[in-house]
Amino acid sequence: MMATLTVKGLNKTYPQAAEAAVSDFTHTFAPGRITALLGPSGSGKSTTLAMIAGLLEPDSGSVTFGDEDLTRVLAERREFGIVFQSYALFPHLSARENVEFGLRVRGIDALERRRRALEMLELVRIPQLAERRPAQLSGGEQQRIALARALAFKPRVLLMDEPLSALDAKLRDELRAELSRLLGELGLTTIYVTHDQGEAMSLGHELVIMHRGRIEQCGTPSDLYRRPSSPFVAGFLGSANVFEGECAQNGKGLVVRLPFGEWRAPTGATLGRCWAMVRPEQIEVAAPADAQFHARVESAFFLGGHTRLHLRVGETTLLADVPSHVPIVSPEALPLRVRDGGLYVQN
Ligand code: ADP
Ligand code: MG
Repeated sequence: MMATLTVKGLNKTYPQAAEAAVSDFTHTFAPGRITALLGPSGSGKSTTLAMIAGLLEPDSGSVTFGDEDLTRVLAERREFGIVFQSYALFPHLSARENVEFGLRVRGIDALERRRRALEMLELVRIPQLAERRPAQLSGGEQQRIALARALAFKPRVLLMDEPLSALDAKLRDELRAELSRLLGELGLTTIYVTHDQGEAMSLGHELVIMHRGRIEQCGTPSDLYRRPSSPFVAGFLGSANVFEGECAQNGKGLVVRLPFGEWRAPTGATLGRCWAMVRPEQIEVAAPADAQFHARVESAFFLGGHTRLHLRVGETTLLADVPSHVPIVSPEALPLRVRDGGLYVQN
């Protein structure tokens, strides 16, 4: 059985910093799965990863793998593979020699080193480039080498910090698909740091959302998308219309008062202040007789299959994604409705 990586109460404040970079980071990483650590720039992702890797000493807290306490164990003894945004390859070594490097440090003999390096370059699908130096390779190819190097010594955990961020969009998509395949095949416990929600949602079996040094929420991508615990998560994962509101009792039951009307409160909502979310795809153009509210169309962006509408209702702006074939007949007062179940309310 695969051992479990557990992190408890990690704290880090850099010297002279006014605020902690990471506060009370506690998480059990699902063995054999990819956990994406997602958050805006400066939210503490890299600091957290560096402490898990053993590259940065935490002020307090612990890192354990199975029943091994790694908190005071040196990075190179943790047997964790690490891949950074900058490929950090040795420029004077060939692709193969770069991959072999970590094996040499571990005292593996030349023949076995070579065999394993070639196997790894095969795995990341660039065996034909084995004898090239980094300067003769594209960014995507260099990152494949960095990945091969991290995997060559059969790490117990794979840690990646924004591995695709330095690549242009097309390469990034290509390598993302490749990583998804590869990590799926390897079944390695992986922590994948990124600020890119699309990358996190497509690669992560689980997401840990960070905000100002703290874990804001964790769960599967679809859980977090459907049931964010805060307006921050709602707005960070995908597009969202988020409102402050109030749940009140009227003659028919509990209602939510929002800037664009009064709505029956979904189950679970309680009396008092609340915030509400409607995803753009939950707003649809209605037949005039079925309209729940009307909005002025301020702009429409054709995005292929759907069109993104920027709407205005009084002082409030709303985003709606409607199928592009739906005609916008009355842009001054477009009849709209929120799909059943499309209104999410949290007190
Ligand atoms: P992220 O990876 O999410 O962008 P970081 O972990 O790099 O965030 O940074 C978290 C906070 O710690 C930020 O406020 C950043 O400015 C600060 N920080 C990061 N590295 C250092 C450092 N070496 N010295 C001082 N402050 C740092
Ligand atoms: Mg970072």
